[in-house]
Amino acid sequence: MSLYENAVRQFNKAADIMDLNQDMRDVLIHPKRELTVNFPVRMDDGSVKVFTGHRVQHNVARGPAKGGIRFHPNVDLDEVKALAFWMTWKAAVVDIPYGGGKGGITVDPRNLSDGELERLSRRFFSEIQIIIGEDKDIPAPDVNTNGQVMAWFMDTYSMNVGHTALGIVTGKPLEIGGSLGRTEATGRGVRICIEEGANYLRKNGKCNKENKDIKVAIHGYGNVASYAAILTVEEVGMKVVAICDITGGLYKEEGFSAEELKDLQEKVLSRKAGICDVHDGKYKVITNEELISLDVDILAPAAMENTITAANADNVKAKLIVEGANGPITPEADEILLEKGVFIVPDFLANAGGVTVSYFEWVQGLQWNFWELEDVRKALHRKMKKAFYDVIDTMEKYKIDMRSAAYVIAIERVATATKLRGIYP
Ligand code: GLU
Repeated sequence: MSLYENAVRQFNKAADIMDLNQDMRDVLIHPKRELTVNFPVRMDDGSVKVFTGHRVQHNVARGPAKGGIRFHPNVDLDEVKALAFWMTWKAAVVDIPYGGGKGGITVDPRNLSDGELERLSRRFFSEIQIIIGEDKDIPAPDVNTNGQVMAWFMDTYSMNVGHTALGIVTGKPLEIGGSLGRTEATGRGVRICIEEGANYLRKNGKCNKENKDIKVAIHGYGNVASYAAILTVEEVGMKVVAICDITGGLYKEEGFSAEELKDLQEKVLSRKAGICDVHDGKYKVITNEELISLDVDILAPAAMENTITAANADNVKAKLIVEGANGPITPEADEILLEKGVFIVPDFLANAGGVTVSYFEWVQGLQWNFWELEDVRKALHRKMKKAFYDVIDTMEKYKIDMRSAAYVIAIERVATATKLRGIYP
């Protein structure tokens, strides 16, 4: 089953609970617009290579399309459609005025020089510019894209229209209209869900440990996972005992200190390397599969899709899973985990911190008026906590799992907007 089909299956499970009619399902399931572009890039050796990229706008009933752009060898139209679909529900569940969009280029950026990466980024943005705009569709960083890539996107658009347009993309560097607190925002949102997830389990007698005794394994060590790990140690006081990336996993029985985690984050970023390449033999090395089956209280899959499948779901020992990545659990694995009584905070709620601060960045850029870091953090905390407990209330009301409850709230909001606007003409 494809990723998009997996996503639609989750949607239909919630739509059944809501008794949503078939017409509305059809409207909400289909992406509004899919753009595929094939474009040439001049390589350093003088040759020309053609790359393929996509931008999908899934739904714009509640506002402009919003979502990241990823550079990854596995990017295809199906994946981008699924990710755009989830963005619609993500924006709706945290109640920010956006629809869902997503983009990507099929490329492994590690094989490109800085110059090639810049030319690839600029040409792609120019190609998709026909559907981009500060009130139409606002891209942002995703897997393997960062502030520098957003700066090139913003500059490309601005050069083409003849003036600087801050509201065109979020996740920009601070010096050119970025927001304080944006880089850490998705990880901070995951950390908020880890804390509230544990509070909820304690309240329901499903966890009798204090935060300092709770063990957490974080699957991933990119932008989302590394900030989630650091902030979970620094601000929640839990023990992060394991992290991993494509080079493998690192384990520390008594938990990594925030300084150790920051040091690894800094080394990985500055050396463009993996955690196993930079730890200098300091920690025990484990496999990524071992990390999933560790005897921990909380597991946060915060790297890529399809990490927990029917093949390894049974090995999970954690009581609480907080999905930092998009789609890290397949529907089959989801059933197995729910059967085992694992409490799952779903992706489009758990990783909504990034798009929430993107919204703050967009508002600041449109007003040319910038906020203090503490104000960004407080506003994010308020939004995430409210969304978390709104979903908990719906979950308890309908006696359903948390993913379905998050869909129920989000679908309700988008369906209401669709009904109010009506069908044109
Ligand atoms: N790529 C991030 C996500 O999947 C952020 C999107 C945004 O800020 O627009 O949520």
